[in-house]
Amino acid sequence: MRKQIVAGNWKMNTNLAEGIELCSSIIAQLGATDKEVIIGAPYIHLASLVDLVNGSPVKLAGQNCHQENSGAYTGEISAKMLASLGLDYVILGHSERRAYFAENNQLLAQKIDASLSEGLKVIYCCGETLEERKSASHFEVVSTQIEEALYHLEVSSFVNIVLAYEPVWAIGTGETATSAQAQEMHAHIRSVLADKYGTEIANNTSILYGGSCKPSNAEEIFSQADVDGGLIGGASLKAEDFIAIIKA
Ligand code: PGA
Repeated sequence: MRKQIVAGNWKMNTNLAEGIELCSSIIAQLGATDKEVIIGAPYIHLASLVDLVNGSPVKLAGQNCHQENSGAYTGEISAKMLASLGLDYVILGHSERRAYFAENNQLLAQKIDASLSEGLKVIYCCGETLEERKSASHFEVVSTQIEEALYHLEVSSFVNIVLAYEPVWAIGTGETATSAQAQEMHAHIRSVLADKYGTEIANNTSILYGGSCKPSNAEEIFSQADVDGGLIGGASLKAEDFIAIIKA
C-alpha cells in the first residue's frame, strides 16, 4: 500500500518568526491523521523547525539542494547539510527551479543521487507547460523528465522516491487540472515507472498532485485512483487551509 502524503511547499515565503508561528499552528491543529504530512520550508527556518516538529507527525523538507556535498559554491546548501539536521525529505525538480534556475533533468539526476546517498527521501516534481499541453506533447515531456532523472536508479531506491505531478500552467494560477486530467497523467506516470521497474514498484510509489490545490478541490482530486495526495503551494501558507487539505 502506498503512502498518502500532503506536503506544503512554502517557497520563498514567511520570515523566521512567521514560519515558526505557521508550523506551530499546523502542529496544534493537525490531530490524528493517517497521511504523511510534510512541510517544505525555507532553508534558514529548518534548524528551528526541526525542534518544533520533534514528537509531532510533521516531517520537514528542503526545497532544493546542491549536487555536491561541500565546496566553493557560494550561497548553496548541500543534501549532506540538510541531512545533518535530521530532515526526512527534499523537494527536487520543481518547475520554478527548472524555469528560473535552469535546472535540467541531468542536473536533477545528480541532485537526486546526492540526496538519496545522504538518506533523504526525494519528492521529484515533473509536469508540462501550457504550450506543451496545447501541442499534445505533455505525456512525452513528463516521460522524459522521469526517464532522464530517475531511470538510472536501482529498484531499491524507490522506497525513498515520491513523485509530484505539477502542471506548470496550474501552479499559482488558480487554474487547477481537472480531476480527470490529473488522473490521466498520474496513470501515465505510473506506467512509465512500471515500464522500467515493474508494476509492484509503480504501484507502491506515491504520486502527488500539485497546482492550485485548495480545500475546495482537494477531495475531488485526491479521490482519483492514482492520486496519492498533494504538493501544496499557496494554500499551505494558511494553517486552516493546509489542515483542511490534509483532512480531504
Ligand atoms: P500552488 O503551488 O499550490 O500555489 O499552485 C504548487 C507548487 O508549486 O508546489
